[in-house]
Amino acid sequence: MDVINITSISDIEIQVADFNFDTIKLNRLTDGHPMVRIGIEIFKLEQFYTLLDCDKIEIANFFATIEATYLEQHFHNATHAADVMQSVYSLLVNSPVNKHLEPLDRLSIVIAAATHDIAHPGVNNTFLANKNDELLQKFGKESTLEKFHFSIALKVIEETRILENLNQYDSSRVTALIKELILATDPGKHSINTNEFLKIKEDINLENSSHILRVLKQAIICADISGQARKLEIATQWGERVYEEFFRLGDLEMELGLEVQKLNDRNTVDVNKGQVGFINFCVKPVFKAWNEVFRNEFSSKILENLDFNCQQYKKLC
Ligand SMILES: [Zn+2]
Repeated sequence: MDVINITSISDIEIQVADFNFDTIKLNRLTDGHPMVRIGIEIFKLEQFYTLLDCDKIEIANFFATIEATYLEQHFHNATHAADVMQSVYSLLVNSPVNKHLEPLDRLSIVIAAATHDIAHPGVNNTFLANKNDELLQKFGKESTLEKFHFSIALKVIEETRILENLNQYDSSRVTALIKELILATDPGKHSINTNEFLKIKEDINLENSSHILRVLKQAIICADISGQARKLEIATQWGERVYEEFFRLGDLEMELGLEVQKLNDRNTVDVNKGQVGFINFCVKPVFKAWNEVFRNEFSSKILENLDFNCQQYKKLC
């Protein structure tokens, strides 16, 4: 692992609750350690140091280990994971659910966000199935990658002993919740989860743990695809990264003689058109649901961002 200068990283000021956060810029400012910086900030604000009875160096090492376990993919890398961590935190602290969350729920979702794509191979579940990849044989056809990510996350948690000062019951509760949240990030499950989330709209009870679980799942789903909901100049950078990864996968599919998935063909895909479709069919429904349940200025502002970005992409089609 690289030696990291925790003092200089900690000195960089960040507004971790701000939705218009630029993790790509933070990646440059921290020499590739945005997750360490965001992690230190959230741990300080949430007093997780006391909860886990650990210090700043242990936490910096924990997040640096997670960063180092991500591969250098164009999109599914440690910067994306750090961004999801910041995004989920921002969504929760700016929603009415915030004051109902227990410290262990907050801790679990932060770790789940940090690890949700850990060791991502830059391909998707459809590719793994088409190729009959060994990951499929190991983890099954359903949510193959997400189960793989959880297995690696668990290893890092165990090896870094980050939860060792919690009692057995709490530590099991945290890892079980991390598993549920990582599995919820399977894009194939977004609409099922969003429908489940919307069911609590009428009689939402934030003292009810099953309602809280649905809220947390929706929060991580939103955060995972929040790149396009950020300010346009940030959103376009995430978009470029996503499409470069898709196109490389398309090249690989071609090379292996597999069917090239619709979004992966660099010769036919119009990126701006693709973004319009992605916003309308994937990103907007999950944030719309969030806004329907929590309806506040913060959540409606995100929908405005999405509409604005979509209009700009349409102009370029
Ligand atoms: Zn992700």
